[in-house]
Amino acid sequence: MADPSGKDREVLSTLFEVTRHLNEGADLEAVLAVIAQAACRLVSADSASVLLLDERRESLLCRASHGLERHEVDCATFRVGEGLAGWSAAKSSTLRLPDASSDPRFKRLPGQDRSIRGFCCVPLTGREGTIGVMTVTSERAEAFDENDESILAFLAASVVKDVENARLYRLAVTDSLTGVYNRQYLSEQFPVEFERHRRYGDPLTVAIVDADHFKSINDRFGHTVGDSALRLLAHRCLETVREIDLVVRYGGEEFMLIFPQTNIAGGSEVAERLRERVAGEPLVSNDVRVHLTVSVGVAEMGPSDAEPKALIARADAALYAAKRAGRNRIEVAT
Ligand code: GH3
Ligand code: MG
Ligand code: MG
Repeated sequence: MADPSGKDREVLSTLFEVTRHLNEGADLEAVLAVIAQAACRLVSADSASVLLLDERRESLLCRASHGLERHEVDCATFRVGEGLAGWSAAKSSTLRLPDASSDPRFKRLPGQDRSIRGFCCVPLTGREGTIGVMTVTSERAEAFDENDESILAFLAASVVKDVENARLYRLAVTDSLTGVYNRQYLSEQFPVEFERHRRYGDPLTVAIVDADHFKSINDRFGHTVGDSALRLLAHRCLETVREIDLVVRYGGEEFMLIFPQTNIAGGSEVAERLRERVAGEPLVSNDVRVHLTVSVGVAEMGPSDAEPKALIARADAALYAAKRAGRNRIEVAT
């Protein structure tokens, strides 16, 4: 392109901006939001969305969008094969339609009253096949041409690596038995959290939860039931904490709960609620009712904790105090 026209120049500068963002190491949601916005702008669409397949490769979930209303985003989920996006994912094919609303595959989202005519959907193709799709819509019929299709394909291809890397990272920091974070995540992320809280002077509390006499659960019911009990215990931890709290499998039958921006009173309250719930309701696995209790050591970051290790050591000491004091209880670090 020796002398790009005004439109070409806009395409080039937008693509340049997008590439710059991709190289900045922003998190996946931010990268996808940039792509959706760029797609809207470059092909003059009313809306753009990036939908990714879930882990079972059954449904497409909207992970970023531009120009969609909140309620549209909330229900923008398609099963593979369902609707136009689902068709594109199932066939791994681009779908460009002059008038989507007259296509028999078109599925209107609940509560969506805008006019959708011009439509284009391109698959995101990873190493092992389709990982999602990107769609654009317009109220104008025949809104998108071949050129637009190429631009969308280019944008889609440029984020595939980011999506795959985010998935691989997620896999690498997830405990395969329970689905909560593993120690690798703890060793990478906890120092970051710790420093951030110290810098801003915000309170940070951690709790170490250890299943009581877990060895005897395995001895009585076998390892498979023991494994299920650990999965259920992890689930109970997740149910009890807030969205922003972290649950990490810290050891075999030990979990660490991290409570950002929370003091010892707040952290202890959640720990006590967890202890009560575990003791109060048996874990049921394959018709076996496992009565379990947990002991918990809780500690808040203090001036003497120069590094994360020191805070964790105090929570650990409190846990052992709880064990010595008879188990099924929480103990607060001094
Ligand atoms: P305490 O109340 O002192 O914590 O007693 P405990 O039996 O829980 O403690 P101990 O540390 O002696 O034993 C932990 C047990 O947890 C032993 C081990 O077999 C079991 N365990 C650890 N990881 C797993 C796992 O992944 N699956 C199963 N089924 N059991 C596990
Ligand atoms: Mg233990
Ligand atoms: Mg134990």
